Amino acid sequence: MTRDSQMVWDDCLRIIKKNVSPQSFKTWFEPIKPVQLDSDVLTIQVPNKFFFEWIEEHYVQLLKKSIRQELGEKARLVYHIPENGTADFTQPKANKSDGGHSADKDNEPVPGVFDAEMIKNPFIIPGIKRIKVDPQLNPHYTFENFIEGDCNRLARNAGLAIAKRPGGTAFNPLVIFGDVGLGKTHLAQAIGNDIVSRIQDKAVLYVSAEKFTNQIIQAIKNNSVNDFVNFYQMIDVLILDDIQFLSGKQKTQEIFFHLFNQLHQNGKQIILTSDRAPKDLEGMEDRLISRFKWGLTADLQSPDLETRMAILGSKMEEEGVDLPQDVLEFICYNIKNNIRELEGVMVSLLAQSTLIRRDVDIDLAREVIRNFVTTINKEITVEFIQQLVAEHFNVPVEKLHHETRKRNIVIARQLSMYLAKKLTNKSLKAIGEQFGGRDHSTVIYSCKAVQDMMDTDLIFKDTVEEVEKKLKMSLNN
Ligand code: ADP
Ligand code: MG
Repeated sequence: MTRDSQMVWDDCLRIIKKNVSPQSFKTWFEPIKPVQLDSDVLTIQVPNKFFFEWIEEHYVQLLKKSIRQELGEKARLVYHIPENGTADFTQPKANKSDGGHSADKDNEPVPGVFDAEMIKNPFIIPGIKRIKVDPQLNPHYTFENFIEGDCNRLARNAGLAIAKRPGGTAFNPLVIFGDVGLGKTHLAQAIGNDIVSRIQDKAVLYVSAEKFTNQIIQAIKNNSVNDFVNFYQMIDVLILDDIQFLSGKQKTQEIFFHLFNQLHQNGKQIILTSDRAPKDLEGMEDRLISRFKWGLTADLQSPDLETRMAILGSKMEEEGVDLPQDVLEFICYNIKNNIRELEGVMVSLLAQSTLIRRDVDIDLAREVIRNFVTTINKEITVEFIQQLVAEHFNVPVEKLHHETRKRNIVIARQLSMYLAKKLTNKSLKAIGEQFGGRDHSTVIYSCKAVQDMMDTDLIFKDTVEEVEKKLKMSLNN
């Protein structure tokens, strides 16, 4: 009796079954259909390209072994990936050479199938004929209310460019990274919202890396990894938030790696956020990190005072609240690093003022902020003065310690000494020591120089008063 493809494959499966876990067998081998046997060439049909890649990467040796056992040393395997009913035959790497197999491959695109009707996924909105994906976006996060500043210009503009032409720019993937509370989620979602509002037929999906991981775990449990992968392959713009969460999660990374390749190859846009630079992601596969660097990596920095004020001002306006300008300035002056904290202060300030019916003024703001900022210096220090003056004059603070004739540095140093004398209890000698070990007479000379300049130069006088106000505004008093 001559054996047909089904019989040969069944025999192969018996061998394979002994060598893989029941879960893997179910996931990766049961869906395979033998389609043709031509002397020693067996053709098997796999559901899609992802499947093909996965098998090639993980089970190629096993497949080779089993098919040779069944059909002899010359046996060959051909994959069939169906697309719109037309046959497409793909030679597996295993047939080409033994040593050429590499996990990080960039082989020719192989068309796969996306059987949308079969997809079961919680993101699908049922009852709509054409598959429509609920993008899971928060409509509140837009470009309009994402204030631009030096701290986010690159990332924001890249985001705008992507929103205009998703998948069509060099920024693929876009990796937005920055500390917590600096606007990564807001910006990533703004891109999504912008696309959704203008381009109806793009499937946009926002998902946190945590949720993504849980979905994979569920899919593995329910034996529906295929559905999961199929679903994600349909997405045109994938926003994966907080990818640092994938650290150390090998299985998730593996699936994501293949998904990434598939999407990227098909010109789909990928947007990732991370709380650290890709190169600093520990427990992340190198091949993934190298993919992250394909596009643009843009960081979000802490916003400067003006940007913080613009952000808080716009939030207040959105809330319909009229915050006195000096209170706004006071809050932004003191909450430096984190925009979420800035909002937190604002919310509790408004809550306090309604509850105890007090006007929102600097005193109330000071009380509220004290609950937010854990490290408050009780007094103005020389370091703090140096820092603030250097910032104001736009010179590096360490220059204040060194010998230099540069006029703006000399003035910044003299002004720092003057303010240190005026606003701290330190002795002239102690102040001098904090300026690169100068003696007390230098400090006296500086104080006099500043006083003279203030008497003759009204603009300089304004500057001094402004810096002094900033110092007093700070929590340090
Ligand atoms: P991350 O994801 O980086 O932790 P979020 O995107 O959640 O930070 O931002 C924290 C808060 O700060 C959000 O309410 C967000 O709207 C706000 N925010 C951050 N950057 C800006 C900005 N440039 N303009 C307006 N609001 C901002
Ligand atoms: Mg976030």
